[in-house]
Amino acid sequence: MPLPHLIGYKHSDATRRKIGLANKGHNVSREARLKISNANRKATLLRWEDPIYRQHMSDVHKGHVHSEEQKRKQGLSNIGKHSNPETGRKISQTLKKMKHGVGKRLSDETKRKIGEAQKKYKKTELHRLHLSQSHKGKKLSQSHRQACSDAQKRMGTIPPSRRGCIPWNYRGATPLAEAIRKTFEYRQWRSDVFKRDGFRCQRCGINGKIEAHHIKPFVQILIENRIMSIAQAIDCAELWDINNGVTVCSPCHKSIPRDTANK
Ligand SMILES: [Zn+2]
Repeated sequence: MPLPHLIGYKHSDATRRKIGLANKGHNVSREARLKISNANRKATLLRWEDPIYRQHMSDVHKGHVHSEEQKRKQGLSNIGKHSNPETGRKISQTLKKMKHGVGKRLSDETKRKIGEAQKKYKKTELHRLHLSQSHKGKKLSQSHRQACSDAQKRMGTIPPSRRGCIPWNYRGATPLAEAIRKTFEYRQWRSDVFKRDGFRCQRCGINGKIEAHHIKPFVQILIENRIMSIAQAIDCAELWDINNGVTVCSPCHKSIPRDTANK
């Protein structure tokens, strides 16, 4: 371990020149080089255990931004490297402390950006292999499996060429759901709900811009009834039950949490 006062110490140019001259013509054998390399590696590891040295390194590198080239190299050299469980735990703890994405809901805008960025990013075959190996033998939770299955059902009638744009956990507007909303039956259901409620928001009473809220979520009905086509939707009685609809104004509708049965 270096003495604290030597941390960050550099030889002067003159000294470096002298060392270089002294070493000239001095051949170092392969073994010796290996020994030096191992010793250096050990010394580096030891140095990192010294809190003063760590603090010094941290101070020196603060605000330092890696160039794109460096990032690329680092990325390449990290491929296939696995942190040991201890390191993984430490990283996870640090990230938690930083509140890095923990419990954070991404905005639609951010999600869209991530999606765009990932489209550009093509996994290498090596990356695929690593992913496949690391997932081997892993069991998915019941809820995860259910979500995969539901997603498969939702995407049942969507041609494979269009499936790429629908993430498996997307619970909002799928092309099928959107198509159903445009049917005559759907418009009829909505206007029946409005008529029954006298075209007034059932929460605040205004008769401005009104919408029909599904008490049991529309997408949930589609999933539970395994609806995979417009024809199946038209045959589904639950979908056209006006008792599942309530007239609300736009601001009131926004205040109703999504995916919540609201009675
Ligand atoms: Zn209202």
